Amino acid sequence: MLTAFDENKKLINLLENRPESLKGKYFCPACRSELSLKNGAIKTPHFAHKSLQACDLALENESAQHLGLKKELYEWFKQDEKVEIERYLPALNQRPDLLVNDKIAIEIQCSYLSLKRLKERSENYRQHGYRVLWLMGKDLWMQERLTELQKNLLYFSENRGFYYWELDLEKQKLRLKSLIHEDLQGHLLYLTDEFSFKKAPLLSLLRRPYQRQKLQSITVPKGQSSERFIRQQLFHRSAKWLKIQEIYYQKGENLLTKNFQKSFFAPPGLNLLTVSKLELPSVNFCQITQNISEYYQNFWENFTEKYTENLYPPRFYAIMKERENEKNQVKA
Ligand SMILES: [Zn+2]
Repeated sequence: MLTAFDENKKLINLLENRPESLKGKYFCPACRSELSLKNGAIKTPHFAHKSLQACDLALENESAQHLGLKKELYEWFKQDEKVEIERYLPALNQRPDLLVNDKIAIEIQCSYLSLKRLKERSENYRQHGYRVLWLMGKDLWMQERLTELQKNLLYFSENRGFYYWELDLEKQKLRLKSLIHEDLQGHLLYLTDEFSFKKAPLLSLLRRPYQRQKLQSITVPKGQSSERFIRQQLFHRSAKWLKIQEIYYQKGENLLTKNFQKSFFAPPGLNLLTVSKLELPSVNFCQITQNISEYYQNFWENFTEKYTENLYPPRFYAIMKERENEKNQVKA
């Protein structure tokens, strides 16, 4: 960790004080036990508990990456905002990596944490009126498919659909991955925006998905058609696909004659199985508080019937729907 109380109960921040200038004893702001100052060559200078006693909020074993990113983002925020590092919030018994303008908690997540823990912590912030933004270090960058943990770190906006933040300490970049879609096998398709550290104000970049902007789209790649993939799955008697076929069959429809000649993509949480039941998924993405069922509905109607060449953000489909409603009103 980068903060500690000194003997006079003054909070010392290692990013604002030269470690060489620090003398005396230091204590953990949460459990009050004694800390030692580590001033080595590889990691950013930091404090560590002297004994491995139980500290609820021990930020031990923070990797060089985590300490480095904390330092970079602290300096970046500080250019334009009020920012505190590791501020202990007693009401929540939590200590976000950074607290911006007293209400935005920034969590730099560099390693795996359990879904249960993620949900508890996210919920705890929200219940106490904080907004929490999870920014992901290398081990949690998006790979070929989304893990359950990553699904619960997705955010959502009308302009960008599902999106995800990544931090690259080596390249000194913040990455926004947006308009995230999955194909039938869970392979991902998305847009990537990259921002160099400390160029533009960080808070405005983090608000980018909500700001007014030209709507972007992704062209559906010309790959294997979904029909071929589904045929293969049925041929190999895949239990999952036999079940989906059965559901379509009960509705009096044939899965294979549906309009899936192209590659099929859908936003996370929506797939042929959920839609075929004619009920929208009640997926619980733990960072998303908006109701996204209307987006799912609009997406499904448009992507499978009208706009099959591209994947668009939720706002696009909403606008198309509005126009259609207006046309119908004129006719009536
Ligand atoms: Zn402690």
